[in-house]
Amino acid sequence: MHLLVVEDEARMATLLRRGLQEEGHTVDVAHGGPDAVWMATEAPFDAIVLDIMLPGFDGFEVCRQLRQRGCWTPILMLTARESVGDRVHGLDTGADDYLLKPFSFDELTARLRALARRGASPRSPRLQVGDLHLDPAARRAWRGEVEIALSAREFSLLELFLRHPGEVLTRTRILEQVWDFAYEAGSNVVDQYVGYLRRKIDQPFNRRDLETVRGAGYRLRLPEDG
Ligand code: CA
Repeated sequence: MHLLVVEDEARMATLLRRGLQEEGHTVDVAHGGPDAVWMATEAPFDAIVLDIMLPGFDGFEVCRQLRQRGCWTPILMLTARESVGDRVHGLDTGADDYLLKPFSFDELTARLRALARRGASPRSPRLQVGDLHLDPAARRAWRGEVEIALSAREFSLLELFLRHPGEVLTRTRILEQVWDFAYEAGSNVVDQYVGYLRRKIDQPFNRRDLETVRGAGYRLRLPEDG
């Protein structure tokens, strides 16, 4: 594969380049945001390994600019463990996958292979289930024509449900994806926020789309479920 590694820290960049070359890949390195955008639009790469903290502008902005320019090369974002909002944000701006630092080389190459197999494909920026829809990039949500004002956390929670319509999401899974691991298992923060969300997306519209599945978790009802 022809890979672009975007990383400003020289040691990390060298490590990534050598490791990936040893696996038989051709690797170019960009050391900052503007360079990354320039290189990725000039040459066709099979995948991009993108660090978030970069000089010039950060990895999110690199993603946004590439997608805006119609460059759909698969992007694997490298995220520090403590900054979990980054995951959701990274996927919003058009990254395809993320990997928590520190990571193993095996994991990195496995993810890259999977991404490259998938190839460059434009994706719809909007999420929709029934008349609920959400624009991850603009961070706006609507029920039909009515825009719904949501806090950052409520937005992430709604986005998670819209990405998994009809699926039962356990409290643990919701905690991990929306709050990271900062809360203890006994915390009722998920129930509390599902309550907030219902008051915004369901109750004003006389709907009950956000269901409680007893003993399991929560589920966003599919329109065909009636
Ligand atoms: Ca960095």
